[in-house]
Amino acid sequence: MNLNIHRGTQEIGGNCIEVSTKTTRILFDFGMPLVEADKSEFNFNKYKSLSVNELIKKKILPDMEGLYPHDKNPIDAIIISHPHMDHYGFMGFVSNKIPVYIGNASNELIKISNIFTPSNVVINNPNFYNSEKPFTIGDIIITPYLNDHSAFDAYSFLIEGEGQRLFYSGDFRGHGRKGSLLTKLTNNPPADIDYLLMEGTSIGRTTRSKPEEEIENELVKVFKEPNKINLIYQAGQNIDRIVSVFKACKNANKTLVLDIYLAYIMATLVRATGNKLPFPSSSFPNIKVFFSSYASNRIVKELGKQELYNFQPYKITKDEIDTNFSNIVMIVRPSLMVHLKGLKNIDNGNLIYSLWEGYKDKGSTKTFIEYLLNDRKFIYHYIHTSGHADLDTLRDLVKGINPKNIVPIHTFKKDDYKQLFKKPIVQVKDGVSYTCQ
Ligand SMILES: [Zn+2]
Ligand SMILES: [Zn+2]
Repeated sequence: MNLNIHRGTQEIGGNCIEVSTKTTRILFDFGMPLVEADKSEFNFNKYKSLSVNELIKKKILPDMEGLYPHDKNPIDAIIISHPHMDHYGFMGFVSNKIPVYIGNASNELIKISNIFTPSNVVINNPNFYNSEKPFTIGDIIITPYLNDHSAFDAYSFLIEGEGQRLFYSGDFRGHGRKGSLLTKLTNNPPADIDYLLMEGTSIGRTTRSKPEEEIENELVKVFKEPNKINLIYQAGQNIDRIVSVFKACKNANKTLVLDIYLAYIMATLVRATGNKLPFPSSSFPNIKVFFSSYASNRIVKELGKQELYNFQPYKITKDEIDTNFSNIVMIVRPSLMVHLKGLKNIDNGNLIYSLWEGYKDKGSTKTFIEYLLNDRKFIYHYIHTSGHADLDTLRDLVKGINPKNIVPIHTFKKDDYKQLFKKPIVQVKDGVSYTCQ
């Protein structure tokens, strides 16, 4: 087999991994980069007006024959590991003749992003794969393994062809709510792996990652402080975190307020996957729905009024939140600031920041936090854990899989792998084909 990592050998994000045999070509992930070549933040708005050819010339899109609508021989498949933009964000550029393989819930989450955010990455004709159910593309066999990550429905892959076996970790960790999946994998690993393509987002950080259960306990402690509203700023699609907040609310006897965007996410995941997640319904009486204006308008425009009416029985109004503030835990984000401004009683509440701290000093996030801390006298708490494996967990994967070689990917620290993992390291370069042997 041949391996050509078009992007991701020396940076976090923008994964784009081509695996091919003599007769079959497959791309694993087609992500948007998180950084520019000089490591500054990547912002696609700068390039929005450019054509595919111009984007290829500027090395924003990879120069990969068979991927784009104008190419003659389309590749055989694209396989998406999970619904984070740095793994699927460029899917809008690919030829719709190429079959796409993705998890069912991942596909739902991408559709949701298209409804509520300016992103418009349509996955044409998706095929759904299932964990530990091998499928075949040409002469390559792929076995997805559901893993633990901050994105819901994330997978690693065993890739077999021409007598060789690759394992692509995708993005993963072991300290989230699905951590047992990593133990299951390392206790019963696929045998004889020639190359382990392993993410190394956390390499360079020294601390151990807190388990998600610890997050839950820390939240309970804060929620139990009397006479305070608790506002949590977290990623809307970090489902593990929403579950932690929900469980902490139960424990501290609080009402969890989801705005209609989050309510729609949870209800859709339950509907699409049958997963037993908490969502606004008679089964979860302590979840209430706030009809935020922007998200409500998007739902009506994209899906029709009925979708909104479905949440009517669980509705909580702005005035009800204001009156019962000391019983309320609400998940927030900067776009809800306009609504928070109308709440008169919530001063001196708790603001729990539950995202990577690097986002804190930028744009609308900064304005939002400063408003709550300075104008409304909120108390700041940082309660968060990473979506990626810490060093001990990376070592667990290496020990479990016991590969002949490791290929660094999704990392700024590729040169550290050799010393950290004591295995032969194959350092490939972006866009340079490597023949597996
Ligand atoms: Zn990633
Ligand atoms: Zn990810």
